[in-house]
Amino acid sequence: MRTPLIAGNWKMNGSTELVEAFGRAFADAALPAALKVAIFPPFPYLDAARRAFDGTPIRLGAQTLNPLHSGARTGEVSGSMLREFGVEYALVGHSERRQLYREGDREVCDRLLAALSAGMTPVLCVGETLEERDAGRTLDVVLRQVGFIMARLEPEQRTRVVIAYEPVWAIGTGRTATPEQAQEVMAAIRAYQAGYDRELAEGLCLLYGGSMNANNAAELLAQPDIDGGLVGGASLKVDDFLAICQSAG
Ligand code: PEP
Repeated sequence: MRTPLIAGNWKMNGSTELVEAFGRAFADAALPAALKVAIFPPFPYLDAARRAFDGTPIRLGAQTLNPLHSGARTGEVSGSMLREFGVEYALVGHSERRQLYREGDREVCDRLLAALSAGMTPVLCVGETLEERDAGRTLDVVLRQVGFIMARLEPEQRTRVVIAYEPVWAIGTGRTATPEQAQEVMAAIRAYQAGYDRELAEGLCLLYGGSMNANNAAELLAQPDIDGGLVGGASLKVDDFLAICQSAG
């Protein structure tokens, strides 16, 4: 039995006020008993978020991390620093970083390994562009992205990775994959992992991301291979994010 995870990626948005509003709303919210919740705020809000989320079910995530532990990397933040602030999850391979900052599979892998060695749970984002989907290449692209990473991990490390399927054409566009489209790809990811180990595949936590909101979450989350959501825009509205969490029971 897999525990659902609802993760909110604030991207370069948010404020101290928003952090506090989430802390207040989640302090006494009625949530499904077996649910994990994580918020990924921008770095400057991590400390305030740690304090505001204390006593709530919300765990902290980082939107990226540098592969190195420390050193001459101006502007970067390492896994060990994030752990000092109580960060438990780290996004790697988000399409905005793959596209805007030219992060390729090798770099994504280095960041994921850094998250693992810092004791965090990496959330590996994979997904196809609209052009790739239209060309019938969705499964090739997604399984190549997953396969590149999995081939470089030890069996025990594979069990510690969460995978988020995020079709690039659905991120921030208001155009959600249909539950059937998402289910097809996510079942293929689970089947791919079963090629390594059936037990690993059964335990793998798979998130859907791409314009998930309070209206479409329940239908997506009802799919057998969708264990949770990675939510962007709707995670900036307390009521909407809470409603998504409540539909993950
Ligand atoms: C994301 O950035 O991971 C995301 C899914 O964004 P949105 O929900 O806004 O599409």
